[in-house]
Amino acid sequence: MTESIVGFDEEVILTDKVRVRFAPSPTGHLHIGGARTALFNWLYSRHNKGTFILRIEDTDTTRSTDEYIEAIIEGMKWLGLDWDEGPFRQTERFDVYRSYADKLIQEGKAYYCNCSAEELEARRKEAMAKGLPLKYDGRCRNKERVQGVEDSRVQGSGSKGQGAVRFKMPQEGRTVVNDLIKGEVVFENTQLDDLIILRSDGTPTYNLTVVVDDVDMKISHIIRGDDHLNNTPKQIHIYNAFGYDIPKFAHLPMILGADKTRLSKRHGATSVMAYYEMGYLPEALMNYLVRLGWSHGDQEIFSKEELVTHFSFENVGKAAAVFNPEKLLWLNSQYIINSKPEELAELVMPFLVKAEIIDEGQALDKAWLSRAIVTLQERAKTLIELANSLRYYISEDIEYIEKAKVKFLNEKSRELLGELKDALSSVADFSMQEIEKVFHDMVEKHGIKLGALAQPVRVAITGGTESPGIYELLEIVGKEKTISRLEKAIKTAV
Ligand code: GLU
Repeated sequence: MTESIVGFDEEVILTDKVRVRFAPSPTGHLHIGGARTALFNWLYSRHNKGTFILRIEDTDTTRSTDEYIEAIIEGMKWLGLDWDEGPFRQTERFDVYRSYADKLIQEGKAYYCNCSAEELEARRKEAMAKGLPLKYDGRCRNKERVQGVEDSRVQGSGSKGQGAVRFKMPQEGRTVVNDLIKGEVVFENTQLDDLIILRSDGTPTYNLTVVVDDVDMKISHIIRGDDHLNNTPKQIHIYNAFGYDIPKFAHLPMILGADKTRLSKRHGATSVMAYYEMGYLPEALMNYLVRLGWSHGDQEIFSKEELVTHFSFENVGKAAAVFNPEKLLWLNSQYIINSKPEELAELVMPFLVKAEIIDEGQALDKAWLSRAIVTLQERAKTLIELANSLRYYISEDIEYIEKAKVKFLNEKSRELLGELKDALSSVADFSMQEIEKVFHDMVEKHGIKLGALAQPVRVAITGGTESPGIYELLEIVGKEKTISRLEKAIKTAV
């Protein structure tokens, strides 16, 4: 059966397939919590060969910006979370929401409320003083009963002077949310407020727009943070009022910082793109995010394909997850170790520019760079570390670490370095094997340990005392730079 979805351009084939959505409000960058919600939606859709929809919930026009929409999209693209439909924007659908609200008014399921903000505040204070529930007291709901619903039917919602539109919540009974993660969660209806679905200026509010869109987009599963669990019974009543089937719900536990408070900037970077800037690989962050609440035995490292294969809600924990930056860093180092050097050679380029090791637009021989990377990728935990460790391979000049200089570039090593320089100058094939021969001959001739020669050379070539194997190092640095750095070291050594 083919049917077009109300208010959307796309023709959508309606089946009983999984259709999920990520519905961010563009009031900030894509953050860790949002990205995890997006990821779980994406995984669930891919696991079930369903559809993943991106919907921008920008009804709060005072806080939403186009820049944040761009930033969210940038973050999702970087993480590789591709969507099948959208991005849709709620601000383009205000008429649709109003027509749904009208329907509720006409059916007596919603009513106008003219209570002013001041009146509501005064009554709230009074209720607080008396220890009564702080919800709307139903004044206009009762008034409307006297006046009848005819007025509203004629005037339509959002007309000037009509006031806001409130949804009539049931006042008794209980609402049960059957959550795929939390299990059965029961709410007393007396706790539910007659919430505003259209403000007096005619703009719709979240609980209306979310239901209308989830219905229009034929969403089968609503996967979101459990900060929305309390909204779910309200939304269920709105579904019921429209006579629609209730989708399945899966509320993901919160992400906390180490101090067990909700994850925020106080705990370090929370924006996804900040992790790009800090030199994380998107696959590592994705792997880390999925483990925030989901597990598959003891396995820690998953390929994207494995995640898609194994993902299910059964293995999502109920408890809040604690964000652990050290573990994320460890995972990133594992991803760097296991990456192809050719891929790292591409990924590291912007970081080489940022570290001012190369100029913007400067090209490097990728095969050579990959070889250099092979010698370093075991040690670099981020692309920033990798870029910095490549410095002595790429830069014309190096700077000595003072301690290393003092310890190894001295009168004793000066002669050795001079002799080595002469011997290496006459090596035609500047390969590891040939370089090794030169070192061997010298070590034997002087009856010294390899380190007595290799350490000063290391300082001469890299500026410090730690580097990959000395022969490999020299081969990759190349003959010309090796000789000129040895010359500089000889001048420095006193
Ligand atoms: N726009 C809401 C948010 O960003 C989405 C809520 C939902 O997924 O229903 O929290």
